[in-house]
Amino acid sequence: MHPEVKAVIELQQLDSRIAELTAQIDSLPLQIRKLESELHEFIKNHEAERQRLAANQKARRDLEGDIQLIRAKISKHKDQLYEVKTNEQFRAMLREIEGEEENIRQIEDQLLEKMVEAEQLERHVKEAASHLEGEKARVEQESRRLQALCQADEQERARLLEQRLALAAQLEDRVREHYERLRKSRGSAVAEVRDGFCSGCHVRLRPQAYNEVRSNSTILTCETCGRILYYVEKAEPDVQPAAPASGASASR
Ligand SMILES: [Zn+2]
Repeated sequence: MHPEVKAVIELQQLDSRIAELTAQIDSLPLQIRKLESELHEFIKNHEAERQRLAANQKARRDLEGDIQLIRAKISKHKDQLYEVKTNEQFRAMLREIEGEEENIRQIEDQLLEKMVEAEQLERHVKEAASHLEGEKARVEQESRRLQALCQADEQERARLLEQRLALAAQLEDRVREHYERLRKSRGSAVAEVRDGFCSGCHVRLRPQAYNEVRSNSTILTCETCGRILYYVEKAEPDVQPAAPASGASASR
């Protein structure tokens, strides 16, 4: 193969690996942000549940306080029963006491609801608290893994860029400029010819051009897309397939 053709093929391989590494490196900040926001979300939910639990506890204390107040009132009214002068006043006082007892029953129902809710909240808060450290550790570990990967990618890319520089320097200016232009405009600058077609643009080569590229003796470009063409000689198929091992058939 023509040495410059070999060099541009190698250059293209380097460039696609460099592009792959760059995409990986560039995606790191986004991946880290995603991890951090997962942890943030977890902590935020946990905090919200804790606040709901605290609010529930306060509501229960308030309701219990209300019951105490009403009980005090009832007991005062019961004392007053002995002081009333008329039957009417007596009945009115009894009705008042009944109304207050009904209030207590309603508050006790609310209290019961709050207690059921509290049980559920306590369970969630306890569960989240037990997972929190694990979640922090997971995010920490994953971030470190991604950062290490990124560092390795950067090292590899720096090494490949050096190789690329040396390789590009071996090319004639004309070829190098053509390569760079095609790489920028078409994404790739080199294409294999397969069965008479350019694998870059899938257009059939003229027979003469096909013959020339098969000789691999000079730099040729596709008349349609401009990519630098090369041809890989197909390996001759084995004329005599290997005989099956006799041991294998004997064992059947
Ligand atoms: Zn082409």
